[in-house]
Amino acid sequence: MTSKRDYDAIVIGAGFSGLAMLHHLREIGLSTLVVDGEDGVGGTWWVNRYPGVRTDSEYSYYSFSFSKEVRDEWTWTERYPAGAEVLKYLNFVADRLDLRKDIRLSTRVDKAVYDEDANTWTVHLGDGSTLTTTYLVSGMGVLSQAIFPAIDGIDTFQGEKYHSSMWPRGGADLTGKRVGLIGLGASGIQMVPEIAKAAGDFYVFQRTPNFIVETTNDPVTEEEMAYLRDHYDEIYEKAANHPFGVAMEPAEHSALEVSAEERDRIFESKWNEGGFHFANECFTDLATSHEASELASEFIRKKIHEIVEDQAVADLLSPTTYSFNGKRVPTGHNYYAAFNKPNVHLIDVASQPISRISERGVVVGDTEYELDVLIFATGFDAMTGTLTNIDIVGRGGRTLREKWLADGLKSNLGINANGFPNFFMSLGPQTPYSNLPVPIQLGAQWLQRAIAWARENDVPFLEATPESEAWWMEETERAGKATVMYSEGKKAKAWFLGDNLPGKPEEFQVYMGGGQVYQQFCRAAEADGYRSFLANQSVKA
Ligand code: NAP
Repeated sequence: MTSKRDYDAIVIGAGFSGLAMLHHLREIGLSTLVVDGEDGVGGTWWVNRYPGVRTDSEYSYYSFSFSKEVRDEWTWTERYPAGAEVLKYLNFVADRLDLRKDIRLSTRVDKAVYDEDANTWTVHLGDGSTLTTTYLVSGMGVLSQAIFPAIDGIDTFQGEKYHSSMWPRGGADLTGKRVGLIGLGASGIQMVPEIAKAAGDFYVFQRTPNFIVETTNDPVTEEEMAYLRDHYDEIYEKAANHPFGVAMEPAEHSALEVSAEERDRIFESKWNEGGFHFANECFTDLATSHEASELASEFIRKKIHEIVEDQAVADLLSPTTYSFNGKRVPTGHNYYAAFNKPNVHLIDVASQPISRISERGVVVGDTEYELDVLIFATGFDAMTGTLTNIDIVGRGGRTLREKWLADGLKSNLGINANGFPNFFMSLGPQTPYSNLPVPIQLGAQWLQRAIAWARENDVPFLEATPESEAWWMEETERAGKATVMYSEGKKAKAWFLGDNLPGKPEEFQVYMGGGQVYQQFCRAAEADGYRSFLANQSVKA
C-alpha cells in the first residue's frame, strides 16, 4: 500500500461511462486519468457516425442528471437526438466539467496487470509505455467490439467497405452508388431510410427481420426544454425506477386480460407514440409472456403489411421465427416505408444464405449483386468483447478472458470479478438491459461511494467474493429465464445471450430482472458494508 503510483485511478474509455467516472472519482479527490484510443471524446458516439445514427431513447432521459450546470445550459433540439448532437453533448459535458485536462486521447490500452504484492495495476499503453494506478476502471463500452461475419471472400471485395461502428470521420459519399447492406439490427435499420435517399440501387441483405417500432421525430420546443430543466430530478428518478431505465409510466394490465378491441386500441395508441413507448407502456407482460409478446408481434406484422406496398416484401420483413422482444427492439424512422422506394431491393438471405463475397459484390446462389459500397452492420461481441479483447491480468496471472471461459461469466453485480482486486467495470456484463446513461450515472456514483468508503476504512482493495459471484450468476439466470428475452432470444440468436457470435457460450450478458431491482441490490451491498466485495482480506471496519 505504500508504493507510489502514477494515478489513484485510471479509467479506460472517454464515452458516457468514462466522463461520469472521471467526474465522480475526481470529486472524492482521486487523481484520475481517462485514456481512450480514439482521438476524440464520445466513445460510442465518436465511432458510430453512420447515416441515420441517433438515439433510440428520447432526449429527456438520455443524459446525465448530476450536473446542474450541464442541465441548465445544454439544449436538445430533437426528440430523438442525432448522433452528432449526442457527441456535441458529451463534448459539452467534458468542457463544462473541465474534464479534458485529465483525458489522454489517442492512447490505446493493450494490457493491464495486477501486482499482488504492491496492490497496483500497471497499464500497458500502445506506445510501449506504462502507467501505474490503484484503481482501474473499464468504461470501454458494451457494444463496441465490432464483429464481421465469417463469409467466404470477405476480404476480397474491391469497393468501399464499412462497418457501422467504424464509419469514416468525414462521412462516406453514397450518392448514386450501388450500395449493399448486411445487418438489420438497430444500426442497420437506422441506415436504411437514409441510404435509400442517397444511393442508386440499394441491396438490403436480410437474414432475420426485426420488429421495429416506428416513430416521428419532432423538434424539442423551448417550453419542453424549460419543463425538462424544471423537472430533471423527477424525470431521472422515474427512469431510474423503471426496469429498462426509461422515464415512462408502467403499464397497468396484462395483454391477456383485456378484450381484443381494447388491446388493439392500446397497441394503436402506443404505436402512435412510437419507439420505446410501445414495448414499455402497452401491457405489463410483453417481456414475460410468450402469448402477450405474440399478440404484439401480430400487431406489428399487420402494421408492416399496411405500410409496405409489396405484400411479398412485407411478408419477408415480418418476423415469424420468434416473437416481440426476442431481439432488442429498435426505434424506426420510416424504416418500413423505405422499402416502397424503387431503388431499394430486399434480398432474403435466410432461405438462401450469402454464399460468398466477391471482388465485385455479394453472391447469393447464382446471383452476384455488383456493388460500389458494402456496409456491415453486423453487430458486436456484446458486453464482454472489449474486456476479453485486451489482457486484463488479475491474481495469479489469470486474465479475465481465461476466467470467464473456464468458470462462466462471473462477477458481483457486473461491477467487479473475483481475482481482479480494484478493477471495476462501468456497465460490466450482467448489468441491466437498459437505457444506458441511467446505470452509467448510478454506477459511477456507487463506485464513488465504495472507493471513498474503502479509503476511509483502510481497505486496500475491493474484490468480489466467490459466493457473491455464484449468487449473481444464479440471479441473472433466474431473472433472464423468466422473460421472453430467453425463450424468444434463443430463437432469434440475440446478442444479449451471446448467441450472435458463433462460438461464444450462451449466457445472459445482461441482467433482465430490471434496472430498479439491480439498483436495490447495489444499495444492499453498500448497506452491508460491501462485504460481498471483501474477498481475500479481513477487514475490521
Ligand atoms: P445486431 O443487433 O447484433 O445486428 C447484427 C445484424 O447483422 C443482424 O441483423 C444479423 O442477422 C446480421 N448478420 C450478422 N451476420 C450475418 C450474415 N452472415 N448474413 C446476414 N446477416 C448477418 O447489431 P447492431 O444493429 O449493431 O445493434 C447492436 C445493439 O447496439 C442494439 O441491439 C442496440 O442495443 C445497440 N444500438 C443502439 C442504437 C441506438 O440506441 N440508437 C443504435 C444502434 C445500435 P441475424 O439477426 O440473422 O443474426
